[in-house]
Order: sequence, then C-alpha cells, then structure tokens
Amino acid sequence: MKKMMLVLCLGVQIAYAQSADDSIKTQIRKIDGNLYFIDCVNGFGGGNVTASIGEDGILLADDMYAMMSARLRATLATISAKPVRIVLNSHFHGDHIQGNSGFRESAVIVAHRNVAARLIRNNSSKALLPHVSFSDSLTIRFNGEDIRLIHFPYSHTDGDAAIYFTGSKVLHLGDMFFFGMFPAVYAEGGGNIRQLVSSIDQLLQQIPPDAHVVPGHGALATMRDLADYAAMLKETIAIVETNLRNGKTLEQMRTEKVLAKYDALGSGGAQTTDQYLGMLVKLLTEKK
Ligand SMILES: [Zn+2]
Repeated sequence: MKKMMLVLCLGVQIAYAQSADDSIKTQIRKIDGNLYFIDCVNGFGGGNVTASIGEDGILLADDMYAMMSARLRATLATISAKPVRIVLNSHFHGDHIQGNSGFRESAVIVAHRNVAARLIRNNSSKALLPHVSFSDSLTIRFNGEDIRLIHFPYSHTDGDAAIYFTGSKVLHLGDMFFFGMFPAVYAEGGGNIRQLVSSIDQLLQQIPPDAHVVPGHGALATMRDLADYAAMLKETIAIVETNLRNGKTLEQMRTEKVLAKYDALGSGGAQTTDQYLGMLVKLLTEKK
C-alpha cells in the first residue's frame, strides 16, 4: 500500500491499480447540508471525493480511478437517483480523475487549464479531458451555493485547484493536503514544496477556521489539521535546509533520523520517513 499510493500519485502505474482486487469498497458519509465525503476501504481505489447532492443533481470534486466508477455510482445512488452533472478535477493525477472517462456521459468536466495541457502532452486518453478549463478562478452555482475553484500554481503540481463550497464551508484540496501522512510533491509535474507551503498559508488566511477540509488522501479534516500540516512542512523543510547547509548527506540525515519527531507520518500510507526525507533533499537541492 505504501509504495502503491506513492507511485499511483505519479499517475503512471495505472495497470497495477486496475488489477487491484474487487474487495475495495467506497464509503460515504455526510459532512453537512448537501455535502458528502467519499473514500475507499479495503484498499486503494483513488483519492478522496467530495459530493454535492441535491435538487440540481450531483456534483463531484474528483472521481477516483476508473475501476471504481461503478462502485462510486452505486454509493451515490444510495443518496439520490439524480445524475452526476458536473465533475471538478483538483489536478491531473489518475487516482483523482480517471473516473472522468465514465462520468462524462452525463457530466461536464471542469479543471484548471494546465490539467488539460498535461493530459494532452502525456498522450492520456481523450476521455479524461475536461470540457471546461479556467485560468485563475471560476465560480459555479450548484445546489444553492457558490462553489469556487481557485488555482494555486506550482504546489503539488502546476494545475492544482482548491475547491471551496462557500455555503457549506467545505474545502476540497486534492493532493495539496495529505492528512496523517507525508505528502508527495512532484517537480516533474510542476510542483514546488516551498510554493505549496505558501499556498496553504494563503488558504489558512482566506478560508474560515470552522470549515471542513477534504484532503486528497486521509480522513476528513479541519482547518486546525491543515494548520498543523503547514507547520510540519515548514519544520521539516527547515530541518533539511539546515542539514544541507551544514554539508550533511541524505545518508547522514537518515542515519541521524533528523525527522524523528514526525516518524508517525511515515506509516500513514504514503511515503515512509526515509522516502519523504529523500524527496525533500531532492526538491531543496534542485534549482529554485
Ligand atoms: Zn496527486
């Protein structure tokens, strides 16, 4: 599972995911009002999904792997018989958007313009491509509230949209937020860990403190959890920067367990502590 999620987030090891066993289930829980949190149990079927289910039908923020679409539909049908009319993509990774291929039958797919650009550049299936692209921000009125998509450049990737349900106060962050585990940041996908920290700081200022937060991976969270995550990122970046300045190698940092304080996050399901340390050293020694 650990290695699996890390690799899956790269969006390249799709064959592995599609051969995953059928025991993976989706589960849904109500957050507030029209808003629901959907994730997987018994294995990894993709990133977390936020659903708005009401009079206008169903809107999804992210839609997991394609192999989960039938299960996702069945789960949604337990709440409403209405169709999925809009799908918002938080970024281009397959574990968050492969469901586009099936849901596009009834839904308009919306994403930042860099999502479409990357999918085209990567020769991804046309069935994944968004119908609507935006640059800086976009507001959608659905089920009685404004839903704002805000682009945060160069964070987890270069096409991250924070999706905020303004009436329900629910913030869907995709992989800008891994909760209870170390995050993955992909320079090759346009990600930048320093910019990610700045993006989260902006969100902490802009979004009310009592909002619910849906991370890309991990349990439903709070703005307090998001603040703790930002503090962890800053502290681990500072530790690695200091060690790099002092001429320490990655091996020395691993031996000295410089991130021991956060070791519990290493068994959270994404990267181990040593893998996260390796990623930080790589990201922080690359040209800024
Ligand atoms: Zn991702």
